[in-house]
Amino acid sequence: MPKDKNFKSLSKKTTEHEFYTSAPKGYKPGRTKYIVIMGSVMSGVGKGTFTASLGNLLSLLHGFRVSPIKFDGYLNYDAGTLNPYRHGEVFVLDDGKECDLDMGSYERMFDKDLPKDNYLTGGKIFKDIIDRERSGSYLGRDVQFIPHVTGEIKGFLRRNAMKNDADIVMVEVGGTVGDIENSYFIEAMRELAYEEGRENVCFVNVTYIMEPKSLGEQKSKAAQLGIRNLMALGIQPNLIVCRSRSPVKESVREKISIYSNVPVERVIGLSDVSSIYHLPVYLREMNVDQSVMEILGLKKKKNGSEKFRKWLELVRKIDSAKKDVTIGITGKYTEVHDSYMSILKALEHTAPYHGASVSVEWIETTDITPSNVMERMEGIDGIIVPGGFGARGTEGKIECIRYARENDIPYFGLCFGFQMAVLEYARNVCGLKKAASTEIDSDSKEPVICILPEQEEIEELGGTMRLGGHDVRVKKGTLAHRLYGKDRVRERFRHRFNVNTEYIEKLEKRGLVFSGMAPKKRIMQIMELPGNRFHLGVQFHPEFTSKPLSPNPLYMGFMKAVAERKS
Ligand code: GLN
Repeated sequence: MPKDKNFKSLSKKTTEHEFYTSAPKGYKPGRTKYIVIMGSVMSGVGKGTFTASLGNLLSLLHGFRVSPIKFDGYLNYDAGTLNPYRHGEVFVLDDGKECDLDMGSYERMFDKDLPKDNYLTGGKIFKDIIDRERSGSYLGRDVQFIPHVTGEIKGFLRRNAMKNDADIVMVEVGGTVGDIENSYFIEAMRELAYEEGRENVCFVNVTYIMEPKSLGEQKSKAAQLGIRNLMALGIQPNLIVCRSRSPVKESVREKISIYSNVPVERVIGLSDVSSIYHLPVYLREMNVDQSVMEILGLKKKKNGSEKFRKWLELVRKIDSAKKDVTIGITGKYTEVHDSYMSILKALEHTAPYHGASVSVEWIETTDITPSNVMERMEGIDGIIVPGGFGARGTEGKIECIRYARENDIPYFGLCFGFQMAVLEYARNVCGLKKAASTEIDSDSKEPVICILPEQEEIEELGGTMRLGGHDVRVKKGTLAHRLYGKDRVRERFRHRFNVNTEYIEKLEKRGLVFSGMAPKKRIMQIMELPGNRFHLGVQFHPEFTSKPLSPNPLYMGFMKAVAERKS
């Protein structure tokens, strides 16, 4: 196994050598362990959730410094230009990176913020490599998938390991084994184990056990073939996670074990669970954390477990939540699936703190009018208008907000939902009947919502909005201030439009309170109505910062208002 000395020889980047591996100066193989999670059979069976739950145990319970990395094979530079209705929510990190929703899942389950270096796409790898080639860094070599592309990938992981002083780097490879899109990445993972030493890299395969209705029994052939595929690429998995609808049969696990050289105790059955918050607990019961630690020769750290105790407390709260509340979210159900993931998670993890469990009703707003809004709002305990772009359904959204305001039903407006709440107030209370957003009506006579000055000249689409974490100055004596308990907070943004400064006074005169704004610019960031129990909108996305163990105060306030009104 190459250790320090031969590791150096692997890094010789000259025209005479075939080796090209990249590592930052001072990198010590063996200091950081790697867990690589790959899928077989099909995608979408919970690789990300497994990764997040295992990471939760390793960091919250065992106290390791874990850095999770998501690789997506597509050629987009990041997720900023992806359609959320096709690919799921675009999650925004504090540093402004627009990325896959799995990053949100890691932040929530690890209870920490992650930087852009933890998200990698095929597009980013190739852009970096071509930039480097243009600057002559490959010393006249032809740039090849092996060793150059794979070398850059290993370099990326090692730089991440060193920068974070990580005990463990977890790498989730998007897609499944056998895809063209991730083939070079999986090859890089094979090389990683060759160079780091087999005892420093744990390969996990998340596979799926079929259970065709017509047969009524579990079939493992697809899983076997998937694992074979992985082994044909030179990767021997250390642990296999069998996802399935119903509990995985012992005999199925045995069969997989024989075919894959993986001891049966390390072939884990993981059937569907009702709540992902229980998953770390189940993994622990099945000793998955112990297995991984054994494979990697890791010893439990002393500082762990306090956070995990809190996690268990939350799980208990979830189990004992008695009050069912229904939140109406404007959006078309067939389009939503994963596109509002963080909002759903934020509701899910704040409700138990108020003894509630949440169900969501999707409200399609294109056909909502003043005459049917009441009927559509029946049985709804709180309303959210989430982030959005474009004109579709906006009049119906404004109608829902009016109904919520007039009937004192808790209302929470998120980004676009903040802008719509301002328009609703302008139209129905301030008498600005034609109030509009220039995003929807560019020639509006009452442009109450208009483009941010800094956005006016921008033409490119990717990564150009006002993005990521910005400070919010919170006004004393307001609901927002009571909830945050602070004069200044940091929240995450993703927008181009904002409240037109020319209308601020008019709105305030009629009772609307801007309780949060940018510290140095006149950008309104929170609005609220003091007369209502909770009628609050935010220009940012509090769902991106809300985590089960550190829930966002505004979500907590919203759920509290909803739960109290219900009792
Ligand atoms: N479309 C609005 C804007 O660009 C709102 C964006 C959002 O909801 N994320 O300002």
